[in-house]
Amino acid sequence: MFRISFAALFLFVATAPAAVLTIGNMSQKTVTFKLSSVGQGQELEVSLEPGEHRLFQVARTPVIAYESAGKAARFQLDPYTPYVFAPAGDGFGLQGIELAGTMPATDDIPATAPSDAVYTVKVKLFGGDGDVRSNELWEKLFRERFASVTETFEKQCRVKFEVVGSAEWTSDPAAKLPAELLKDFASKVPASADYLSVGFTSRTLLNKGQELAKTPEQLIQAGCLRGPLGRHLLLREYITRSESARLEMLIHELAHHLGAVHSQDLNTSMRVNVLDGRSDRKEVRAGLDPLNLLVVGIWVEQLRGGKVRGPSDLSEVTRQRLNVLYKTLQNVYPEDTLPTAFIAVLNKKEKAEPGEAFNLNPPQIAGNSSSGQNLKIPAKAGPERVKVPVSPEPIEALPSVGPVVPVNPSDPREQSIRQVVRSITARAKLHRQQPKDQRLRSDELTADFVQTAAVIAGQMPEQHRRSAFLIGLGIGLDDSKVLRDNPLPVVRQLCRAVESDSEFGERVAFLGTPTMRYRRDLCQHYVVSAALADILGAKEAEAVGMTKELLDSRKPSGFSFADLCADYAGVALFTKLKEQPKLLDQFQAGVRVSELLPSVADLPEGLTFKRFLAEYGTPEDPRFQKAIGDIRQRVSALSVNKK
Ligand SMILES: [Zn+2]
Repeated sequence: MFRISFAALFLFVATAPAAVLTIGNMSQKTVTFKLSSVGQGQELEVSLEPGEHRLFQVARTPVIAYESAGKAARFQLDPYTPYVFAPAGDGFGLQGIELAGTMPATDDIPATAPSDAVYTVKVKLFGGDGDVRSNELWEKLFRERFASVTETFEKQCRVKFEVVGSAEWTSDPAAKLPAELLKDFASKVPASADYLSVGFTSRTLLNKGQELAKTPEQLIQAGCLRGPLGRHLLLREYITRSESARLEMLIHELAHHLGAVHSQDLNTSMRVNVLDGRSDRKEVRAGLDPLNLLVVGIWVEQLRGGKVRGPSDLSEVTRQRLNVLYKTLQNVYPEDTLPTAFIAVLNKKEKAEPGEAFNLNPPQIAGNSSSGQNLKIPAKAGPERVKVPVSPEPIEALPSVGPVVPVNPSDPREQSIRQVVRSITARAKLHRQQPKDQRLRSDELTADFVQTAAVIAGQMPEQHRRSAFLIGLGIGLDDSKVLRDNPLPVVRQLCRAVESDSEFGERVAFLGTPTMRYRRDLCQHYVVSAALADILGAKEAEAVGMTKELLDSRKPSGFSFADLCADYAGVALFTKLKEQPKLLDQFQAGVRVSELLPSVADLPEGLTFKRFLAEYGTPEDPRFQKAIGDIRQRVSALSVNKK
């Protein structure tokens, strides 16, 4: 009898919601500290690597103790507050992140914290929709992915995902947009109170002759769900071919399910666009930023209690706490539409309407963003006031663009090219939203655009993919009017059919400076030649390049073998893709500029007509032919041409 009641008491204590707080490390050093008033009065010794953030379950008065630069520090912390270690003097100091409101009193928080138990979110997998892989294969892959994601969540916030089953589903071909597909999924797979239904679709969301995406952002929308704790989550398997991007995509969408919104910080999985290629970089730590981590922690504590199934079940005090945090996240990142949507759900005190899918698109870019605020981090916990450790630069005023009038080509090939061009514009806008010092630039920016073009082109009807990619890239990365105002009507008309004047203006305003081998002109030569080759043929495109250089020899710029090399490399890409269309799939996982264009640093440039004649004679001269042969050899030695 005694034993039973003791067990019952223990269970009760273990499931009562605890308070939470987050501690992150934004310094360059590993920090260690002791945290007390966690889990049954124990003291926890914690070590955080640079960039690591963790959530802790705490009682009413947690105390932290650490040593920095030979000095001991000890502070009482406030529950429901995000803290970070930031560089200070020779060591580091602890700071609280300023919130956009006062947190409610702590009366409801237990004086002793419950044990540090892991909370398990059960999921059931639904695959097969358009997936050419066998059931065994996709199920194995999806299970592995969940196992890997669980590692991240378990370490950061003691949450586990357990796959409890799998099944197939097939979507209605009439559902085209991610939100429509989610609705279809939810109508076919009944909502379960026991598990989250995660659907995967491998369908390309564009069918022959149809422009399905209503906005360019929808082309990169990786997942769709119905707000916090919605019972269905849909993921687009083939929006990327990179497995590490798929992992981050899953972290991102599962965090949305647990209440997280977007972050301006490019080093977390809550950045707006997880398909930006960062997943493949070693220095990027998959996981959540301190504020979203705290939000997720609060939702999970409510779930842990077992009485909360949706937003309408939250207690008033929890609602207030989440309100403060969502407002803070909104201040930090005003362009994100999600905090507003989630606040509305909290305050409506009702479940999201059936069929209502949250718009989890990247936020729309406003005309300006003067309301952008820095993350203010006062020395809430520490005695000394130190500078803001990591402050996302305020988003600079964005270029203003007049009303953008879309064109609407009826030809499927033109439509496919248009999708790529519009996605490059959308991508460029996303880049512009990033803090200046974190933006991709030069060759990296070009590589990102090439990858974007490959991903989007891969969703087009097969017979148009190459054109969509090459011509889309040629138009998309060119900010001159060399294609738009081309003397050849076939080129000019095509460009104008896929991009209106106002869309051109919009794209150029956001494009930035994509380069190849760190030169803007080489990038233009390359992409324009690749596009011309697809429109006119390889020989004709090479001839156009040669003619241009010969004409340039009479101008101050002079004849450039470097430009010519970029032209030939662009044309070679066309030839290669014609032979091997599958190469485009490889580009979807990313490609380096050095794989596309050889080094041209040692090639002669700026040759006047006189000097060109003296050194190379006419284009038929063996000396000139030798120089051209050298260029061709460089181009054919590129790894991409050897594949
Ligand atoms: Zn998102």
